[in-house]
Amino acid sequence: MKNINLEKKIKLSNYTTIKVGGFAEYFSMPNNINDFINLIKWSNINNQECRIIGAGSNLLINDIFLKGLTICTKKMRSITIEPISGLVEVEAGLMLPIMSNMLAKNGLRGGEWAVGIPGTVGGAICMNAGSGKLSIANNLLSVQVIDTKTLAISEIEKKDIDFQYRCSPFQQNNLLIISAKLLFQPKGNIEQLLETTRKNLKRKTESQPYDLPSFGSVFKNPTHNYAGKLIEELGLKGFKIGGAEISTMHGNFIVNNSSANSQDILNLITVIQQKVLQKKGIFLQPEVRMMGFDYP
Ligand SMILES: Cc1cc2nc3c(=O)[nH]c(=O)nc-3n(C[C@H](O)[C@H](O)[C@H](O)COP(=O)(O)OP(=O)(O)OC[C@H]3O[C@@H](n4cnc5c(N)ncnc54)[C@H](O)[C@@H]3O)c2cc1C
Repeated sequence: MKNINLEKKIKLSNYTTIKVGGFAEYFSMPNNINDFINLIKWSNINNQECRIIGAGSNLLINDIFLKGLTICTKKMRSITIEPISGLVEVEAGLMLPIMSNMLAKNGLRGGEWAVGIPGTVGGAICMNAGSGKLSIANNLLSVQVIDTKTLAISEIEKKDIDFQYRCSPFQQNNLLIISAKLLFQPKGNIEQLLETTRKNLKRKTESQPYDLPSFGSVFKNPTHNYAGKLIEELGLKGFKIGGAEISTMHGNFIVNNSSANSQDILNLITVIQQKVLQKKGIFLQPEVRMMGFDYP
């Protein structure tokens, strides 16, 4: 098959922000949509399991040998912006901070919150990433997807996608996001937008451990509560298992003190869940996605 560029036995810890993850049997970073589609066809024809990662910023990958093909979308990053209408068409691998800054420079409002989120557009749609009351679903018009089982390519409108808090159907189904159409409000004041974007980034880097490997918020916030607050109230900040530590800066972050393995992190997640359930009667649901585990 044309345009297939496969590497073998690639260490996935280099492709996750928490710097943990085992080996992918086959690995590829397609440069464009055609290469991406060809890779999925290859895995389908050869009966290879196919999994996708963006920037790996919300992922805990087990330290095992992951059979099949792992595709990283980070090189699929083309974007077109129509400043007059606010329409944006973007490939799945573009990083949110880059998009956020580009929107501001084009006078488009509504993407300022995304500047501090170190993930791709595809990963953000799969996670319905957001900040406060805003999330990517608010600006989404449609996604172009490929079905890994049938290889059918289709466009799905936002109204047909059941987005929830940090959740979308793409976490369960066979559809991989190729690209997306988004709509932002045009004719914003560029200086103000750039200033808000700068301030948002500053606020995040001052309140969260950006200088250490992590995967962002470990748990979803329970209704009317905050996971980080519950963890902090139990005095768990700084609690460690192996090289994994609950951040001293933010209770809902686990950081990798350079030597953590996937089991340290999973054990720490489990201990936090047990303690919060025992002491507060609340079950914390992970926000982070697990790969290569038998995790429910
Ligand atoms: C320091 C830090 C701060 C963060 N702050 C926030 C925040 O404020 N708000 C927030 O919501 N998140 C936050 N996150 C988490 C994370 O950045 C977001 O969830 C992000 O959108 C994940 O994108 P990704 O490309 O890294 O996805 P990955 O972690 O690579 O993947 C996440 C999931 O998406 C799937 N996926 C990836 N690409 C595609 C695709 N093209 N098609 C279908 N499925 C796909 C993967 O299979 C996986 O299930 C933070 C993370 C860090 C490290």
